[in-house]
Amino acid sequence: MTYSSQSDVQIAAGGSANLVSLTDQENSGVIDLVVLAKFQAKADSTIDGYLRATGAPSRTVEDIGVVFIGEWEGVRFEELMAERDRMVKKHPKTKFILAHMGWHANNLARLGKMFDEMPNAYAEVGAILYDLGRQPRFAREFFIKYQDRILFGKDSFQPDEYPYYWRVFETADEYFDYYRDYHAFWKLYGMDLPDDVLKKLYYKNALKLVPGLPKTGFPN
Ligand SMILES: [Zn+2]
Repeated sequence: MTYSSQSDVQIAAGGSANLVSLTDQENSGVIDLVVLAKFQAKADSTIDGYLRATGAPSRTVEDIGVVFIGEWEGVRFEELMAERDRMVKKHPKTKFILAHMGWHANNLARLGKMFDEMPNAYAEVGAILYDLGRQPRFAREFFIKYQDRILFGKDSFQPDEYPYYWRVFETADEYFDYYRDYHAFWKLYGMDLPDDVLKKLYYKNALKLVPGLPKTGFPN
């Protein structure tokens, strides 16, 4: 890990030229820092620049996911979020499951506000485990409060990654490794969620929301 100081974060927040310079650092935390930086970055931070900045030029936009944070054909993150929120509010009889905790796993209070304002909004936890595992106490309270609104989800079927999820959601373990170093350079902590909340997260909410799922084979 070559990332070192708080001042680097400030530099990263300065604009795209600095973002690109991060490429050389092979820093596992660079994506998160770029996400941070994006909020202040200049207008030439295109997808190409973003992918270069994350050091993952061969990865697709879909893979990166967080590219929605950035500018894309002149669209900014907050514009996209506002459009999304208008859509969800405009169709109150449609249930929306927001991927990646609605891009707000780093700001659960914001997602909670959405849940409060939009009873038809739900969220899933794909690819944001690192944001929960660094704020386990707040995340635990959040998952208990909104236990009917959160579903388990992943971008891809990778059974070898599941134990990290079980460990964060189910245990009170402290300071353990995460499997994907380009998501997070920090260690994770367990949320120690109660059993009834875990069941909702893992399958009960899905059984309620998604028509046609087989109802048998799940523990009560
Ligand atoms: Zn995704």
